[in-house]
Amino acid sequence: MTLIVSHNPARPAEILTEIPGAGAFGVAGAVERARAASRPWARGGAAGRAAALHAAAARVEQAGEELGALVVREVGKPFAEARGEVARTVAILRYYAQQPYDPVGSVHEPAAGAGLLFTRRAPYGVAGLITPWNFPLAIPVWKAAPALAAGNAVVVKPAPPATACALRLAELLEGVLPDGVFTVVPGGAEEGAALVDSADVVSFTGSTAVGRAVVQVATVRGVPVQAEMGGQNAAIVLPDADVAATAAQLAGAIAGFAGQKCTATKRVFVVGDPAPLRDALVAALEALGTGDPGDPATVCGPLISAAARDAVLSAASGGRVLTGGAAPAGLDGWYAAPTLADALPDDHVLATDEVFGPIAALIPAPDLDTALARADSVAHGLVSSVHTADLDTALRCADRLATGMVKVNAPTTGVDFHLPFGGDKASSHGPREQGKAAMDFYTRTRTVTMVPTA
Ligand code: NAD
Repeated sequence: MTLIVSHNPARPAEILTEIPGAGAFGVAGAVERARAASRPWARGGAAGRAAALHAAAARVEQAGEELGALVVREVGKPFAEARGEVARTVAILRYYAQQPYDPVGSVHEPAAGAGLLFTRRAPYGVAGLITPWNFPLAIPVWKAAPALAAGNAVVVKPAPPATACALRLAELLEGVLPDGVFTVVPGGAEEGAALVDSADVVSFTGSTAVGRAVVQVATVRGVPVQAEMGGQNAAIVLPDADVAATAAQLAGAIAGFAGQKCTATKRVFVVGDPAPLRDALVAALEALGTGDPGDPATVCGPLISAAARDAVLSAASGGRVLTGGAAPAGLDGWYAAPTLADALPDDHVLATDEVFGPIAALIPAPDLDTALARADSVAHGLVSSVHTADLDTALRCADRLATGMVKVNAPTTGVDFHLPFGGDKASSHGPREQGKAAMDFYTRTRTVTMVPTA
């Protein structure tokens, strides 16, 4: 059985959680209880599920300050973003509280003869949700809320560094949701694997390596699976872009929450003369700096672990460091300064892989076609941004870029939860998350043919 320990990344000596993992046996028990609870939950009707999800939203909202503070302490998310995450969690619950009233199928004319043809979507039973640490409330809830709205029970296996947040969420939802309908099982790889082995539908968010293994096991079992994985997101800046506004957006997308978002900008392609944007971006990153995540003014806080910090610092070598590339002095936690590098070889890790920290590569491109081709040359395809005043160019980029999401004159980070979320290539597998797409993922379709007897 794994020991689950989470630390405050800003003060690593402070331990938030130290508990044994649930073990494979504990996961099996949670799934069994969830399966029993899923039947009355599904049969209970739309009004019951809608009311319970509204009550869950109210409970999270009431505990908003406490939850925000816990997110700051456990994963080092800066205060303003942590509060934003709590507000978004509440909004997601309210959005999915409406969904039980939506149609669950459609009625059709038979191709020949009399009768009635209709489709009806039904829940699977138990949704196994495996989540990363970087959105410790929003990701468990954006998976759980649609699964619950559709009539499934859920078992959540949070990432070890975010265990206290997930357990507190489960405590808050006790009494709001029926017993066994929402369960958190603390653990690591062993518990995650046990959940993939036993759930009726699996939703994973995390690294590409683990996601691919999860997809393989679930696929062999024959259960539906979706996996949201890494990103290596590109911004393309055209010569007609507003330099100051673009630099400000890019700095936030590179270094906000220390770049620990799957949607963070990792590569900046500058078409034409790179100097004005380069200088403005260096100034914007330096103005952000790093700070204690509890300070409301902080944008770039600490990294989740010493290893994550070291990966950023080592990725800064091999090219020309324009700013950052070192741990800031005088801070106790796992910090790395916002970093921008250029003059990198094509096979440099910043040009090819996701480095989960406040670091990006600046890459000049002679023309838009070269920028587009290089932007798409990596394995991932989550989100890209295009910065231009020209509508034709923006539309051309939106058509060409091989990413699941394209933002025009907006940062790669930040999503609207009522639209489908996901990427292409190595970034995602299976149907999209969020919005109405999630309701489809957590339900199966029955086609019913009724023929009159006379
Ligand atoms: P991770 O892959 O290390 O862990 C994710 C989850 O999988 C954790 O709960 C972990 O305990 C569990 N796990 C580990 N081994 C497992 C196994 N063998 N079987 C089943 N489960 C297992 O990822 P992380 O470090 O927590 O998160 C960072 C990664 O998540 C980054 O790559 C980031 O890009 C990605 N991410 C993607 C999205 C998205 O929507 N695309 C959103 C947030 C984070």
